[in-house]
Amino acid sequence: MPVPEALTALAKILGDRLSRSKSDLDLHGRNETYFPFAPPDAVAYPETTEEVAAIARICAQHDCPMTGWGAGTSLEGHALPVRGGISVDFSRMNRVLQVNPQDMDCVVQPGVTREALNQELRATGLFFPVDPGANASLGGMACTRASGTTAVRYGTMRDNVLGLEAVLADGRVIRTGTRARKSAAGYDLTGLFVGAEGTLGLITELTLKLQGQPEAISAAVCAFDEIGPAVETVIETIQMGIPMARIEFVDAATAAAVNAYSGASFPEMPHLMVEFHGSEAGVAEQAESFGALVGEHGGHGFDWSSRPEDRNALWAMRHNAYYACLAARKGATALVTDLCVPISRLAEAVEETRADIAAATIPGPILGHVGDGNFHAILLVEPGNTAELDEAKALSHRMVERALRMGGTATGEHGIGMGKLGYMDKEHGAAWDVMGALKQALDPKDLMNPGKMVRQG
Ligand SMILES: Cc1cc2nc3c(=O)[nH]c(=O)nc-3n(C[C@H](O)[C@H](O)[C@H](O)COP(=O)(O)OP(=O)(O)OC[C@H]3O[C@@H](n4cnc5c(N)ncnc54)[C@H](O)[C@@H]3O)c2cc1C
Repeated sequence: MPVPEALTALAKILGDRLSRSKSDLDLHGRNETYFPFAPPDAVAYPETTEEVAAIARICAQHDCPMTGWGAGTSLEGHALPVRGGISVDFSRMNRVLQVNPQDMDCVVQPGVTREALNQELRATGLFFPVDPGANASLGGMACTRASGTTAVRYGTMRDNVLGLEAVLADGRVIRTGTRARKSAAGYDLTGLFVGAEGTLGLITELTLKLQGQPEAISAAVCAFDEIGPAVETVIETIQMGIPMARIEFVDAATAAAVNAYSGASFPEMPHLMVEFHGSEAGVAEQAESFGALVGEHGGHGFDWSSRPEDRNALWAMRHNAYYACLAARKGATALVTDLCVPISRLAEAVEETRADIAAATIPGPILGHVGDGNFHAILLVEPGNTAELDEAKALSHRMVERALRMGGTATGEHGIGMGKLGYMDKEHGAAWDVMGALKQALDPKDLMNPGKMVRQG
């Protein structure tokens, strides 16, 4: 067994920052959703890039798998060390190294969370816009190519990482990208590592684009009798070029769950929640144009506000929607689906999904970042009930098939992890083999987050 030898060598450089405590192994073997417990053999807590490089060299020497760990909030079992070895937990690499207000960028270690970064940026008038709801680490967000409520305006991690530093499987340290806003110099290795889910290397530093805090923000919420007109409103808003910063959809079941969880009093109907960023006059005008579209599609209760307390309450409820849905079925665990279709097919995709879930025996509230054509069903299953889990998987499978048929993708933002591996062939065809060739070139021993992303031998 090579792993014990690796652990002995790792303990020499990390001391008590190589942990084999039961609580550490338990924490790093669990995930947010339904994937079975898969603990590592040990958890490493590096503090510098040099330590990460030394860890990789030792693991390479002893064929010991290494799987990165940010905040552990990924939803497809991404960070589970399914072949054992070590979890490399980046929580101690949590420093903001540079903020460059003039260039509107910053350099961070991967363990900085998005909330911590925005806290640190408060006095600068800048903010980092990618918002997956969970207080994820920026390294983890880069690895899953995360997005969330604001991607419709500011893009995903793909659009917001200018460059990065990574430790490869053999311990080499590379830098990709620069602080320049654009570059035509060679292959886009930044783009390759963003979304690679830690299968090509461990990310040890990120250079991120920042945005100016808008002068004014307005937010609005409105209800619809049916899902169709709500989604049609989104499509027309986009087609008219009204610049939304967020536009979120929740169905009647999610509204009911949020009421029960957060003490809110939304009518139990489909809702749109929307936010505009700009000048005082701009956001007022945008909110009014949007309100007119809502009226045309039979929406009601439209009310907008630019008061921060109203806005914060609205988005806090939206961000808690996952936990509200979980709480709607006592003791349940969730299979969280995630698909994305071209915007013109969104209404059809949501309606078909809703009808499919209505015919099932398990509940599945629907919500999503509809401005990108991206939505989720939170399929609630009783832990240990294999019939229910199978039903949830079958529903999720049909959702993915539907998305692919419509020219969309198996995952808009959550990523592949363990849950979506089975769709890579269908979505990418021969391009999936090219991904395998890249993995083989960079990690020939399959030590970086093995069991994920590429065809399994
Ligand atoms: C309530 C809730 C809501 C969510 N909403 C959204 C949403 O709206 N949009 C969205 O995109 N996601 C969403 N997510 C999913 C999750 O927040 C994202 O996937 C996030 O990017 C994961 O970041 P993390 O720090 O938790 O990473 P982890 O879960 O710790 O890791 C994710 C992957 O990255 C790898 N990894 C982590 N750090 C490194 C590193 N430094 N180097 C190499 N590999 C590394 C891990 O091995 C794993 O493969 C949500 C999750 C929850 C619980």
